[in-house]
Amino acid sequence: MGERTVVILIDALGCELVDHHGFSPGSLPFRTRLKTVLGFSQAALTSILTGSAPDVHGLWMMFSFVGGGSPFGLLRGLRLFGGPDRLWVRNLLRWKLSRIDRVTAYFSLYDIPREVLERLDLPARKSVFGPLGGGNRRSILDQAYDEGGVFIRDYDTPEEQAFDELESALETGESSFHLVYTAGLDSDLHRYGSREEAIGSRLRLYRERIDSLVSRFPDPRFIVLGDHGMCDVTGHIDLIKSVEATGLKIPGDYVPFYDSTMARFRVSGERASRAISEILERSPGGKLLGTEELNSLGVHFPRGEYGDIVFLCDPGTIILPSYMGSAPVKGMHGYHPGASCMDSVMFSSEEFQGDEAPVTGIARFLLPGFRGGGRKE
Ligand SMILES: [Zn+2]
Repeated sequence: MGERTVVILIDALGCELVDHHGFSPGSLPFRTRLKTVLGFSQAALTSILTGSAPDVHGLWMMFSFVGGGSPFGLLRGLRLFGGPDRLWVRNLLRWKLSRIDRVTAYFSLYDIPREVLERLDLPARKSVFGPLGGGNRRSILDQAYDEGGVFIRDYDTPEEQAFDELESALETGESSFHLVYTAGLDSDLHRYGSREEAIGSRLRLYRERIDSLVSRFPDPRFIVLGDHGMCDVTGHIDLIKSVEATGLKIPGDYVPFYDSTMARFRVSGERASRAISEILERSPGGKLLGTEELNSLGVHFPRGEYGDIVFLCDPGTIILPSYMGSAPVKGMHGYHPGASCMDSVMFSSEEFQGDEAPVTGIARFLLPGFRGGGRKE
């Protein structure tokens, strides 16, 4: 067996909150600042595991707009929820249920106007941690599965149990690639914000588990990282009310999707496009993203599957109410990756070249020899 690798992926392990709470696994000497991608965890995790940007792997946001006006997207999937052929819907809803922001997403699905719901789809139909989970691209997990001996624990396993099982797996030595993903910190941060002691105590638990693993098993390469940071929420805007005041009709003129920090619109015709753009340009607390900016952020989809118009909130501002729920949260992510609170961090037993890296640039560090490429290559 070749070199063994252990990756511990802590959702929302932000650089700033790590500094604030003094989280630093003493056993891992190297530290790299990570710049995330625009989007939520699905976008960031897929970018980490495939080494490519969302407009390359294709899985930018949880919900996309159905093309061609055919109302057979999400709604049909939900109607057949429970049917054996709709396993992907169940897997996705479980993924959402495992996280605070996605818990509210699950329940508020039923608050999304029916005429919007009918025009939405779920582009990610597989777990990002399973085979073929990387959208259009091969992920490091595809390659690790091919090479054999993979140990993965994700949101299906309680965190303490996942660490216990990781320890047993390292003892028996059956696997060469190990990945443990934890969502508890992310959900605490949504609930408490970044400065509460609850965050510090959870980080201490992680540090103890990591340090004890590294001291017990000195041989494997250890990498601990996050997918994005977390910004404390300072205000909210009622975007739905402003857009609805235009008198434009859903779905004839436009189909919206109001996420917690982003609003995306599929529009029909110049009149609707101009009216919505004007409202958004005047709205405080955020800005429209132009084609050039979407391009440079690696989230430009020219066919409009994620919307023709994209509005992004300023760090700390949330859209309320949104399709993600009407309860305010204390922490949120999904802001411009240039905001320092969005930065994540990576600790490692081996040195990574450079103090800073994009999350799209570490796949080969996580799995040495990772070849990447398209799914069909
Ligand atoms: Zn989150």
